[in-house]
Amino acid sequence: MSRPKVRDDVAMMEGYHSPQLDVSIRLNTNEAPQPPPPEFTRRLAEAIGSIEWHRYPSRSASALRARIAEVEGVEADQVFAANGSNEVLQTVLLTYGGPGRTALTFEPTYALHSHLSRIAGTAVVEGERTDEFELDLDVVETLIARHRPAVTFLCSPNNPTGRFESEATIRRVLELVEAVDGLLIVDEAYGQFAPWSAKELLSEDRNLVVTRTYSKTWSMAAARLGYALAPSWLVAELDKVVLPYHLDASKQIAGLLALDYLDDMSARVAALVEERGRVQSALADLDVDQWESGANFILFRPRHRSGAQVWQDLVDRSILVRNCASWPRLDDCLRLTLGTAEENTAFLDALAEILETPTP
Ligand code: PMP
Repeated sequence: MSRPKVRDDVAMMEGYHSPQLDVSIRLNTNEAPQPPPPEFTRRLAEAIGSIEWHRYPSRSASALRARIAEVEGVEADQVFAANGSNEVLQTVLLTYGGPGRTALTFEPTYALHSHLSRIAGTAVVEGERTDEFELDLDVVETLIARHRPAVTFLCSPNNPTGRFESEATIRRVLELVEAVDGLLIVDEAYGQFAPWSAKELLSEDRNLVVTRTYSKTWSMAAARLGYALAPSWLVAELDKVVLPYHLDASKQIAGLLALDYLDDMSARVAALVEERGRVQSALADLDVDQWESGANFILFRPRHRSGAQVWQDLVDRSILVRNCASWPRLDDCLRLTLGTAEENTAFLDALAEILETPTP
């Protein structure tokens, strides 16, 4: 008996990995540094006690969608929710990508955009950004006209660079995408940390999907909950594709309850944005290059040391950042997720010490 053969395209893929190490300061996966408010956790535990576990949950998750819509300023039928924004993206790709269709990304960007596209059988065209990780609208125009992608991805703020797109840029890309009857996905997993959101451009007659998540701002990475804001006709198509009852009862309750703590969450975002400013100005005094960030993380590159060595030196001091040093287009780059003020200070002190130590 031989093993069943996997799809040829899957056999060629590498999985998506985000290694964890046993360290005391973990600043590598863009999570929120603090748990949700204790009152939220208490109320959630109470509410879970009254779930009717022998029944399927609400299939449409209508209460959750209505509440997200209220918070985001859209209509309830313009919201689609799923298990993390990763599942939202996957559902959009299963619906609008697929064999014979093309997805367009601008690299470097979030690796799952191309990975999920390929899993859905979609051809991927990887466009380039400038050396400063910005979009070049001439390149965007050429690639869209040449490949007529069914799905075009932007990520704003972009992971792992932190750079965010202006309203004018998103408007222009949307026009180009619509000229080939394509769909623009703006991944706003870090949208709350940025000065502007593409959701302002949403309407029933635009080919635009904006995806967001509870994992970062809402301190709820463990819950696996994300959502899309999109025209109602598009949401109706996603509802056909996603598995029935994909959102379990406890997650629907968690998502609803979390939105009772808007003020608390806004305060956390404001605190992280302030920390971002403090860390960026401290990094400016060190021997590293960095890029302006609209997210809860900062990409930086030691000027005179190898990124891999600095990463290891930080690990030796029990601090873990994301090692992007060997990723395409990101030679020697490291990505710091902003933690608590104490964690950030510990990181800055360690980095300064490492960069000051003469190389052997
Ligand atoms: N989009 C981007 C740009 C991300 O960085 C992440 C998390 N790493 C996600 C989507 C997925 O987030 P989640 O599935 O936790 O909502």
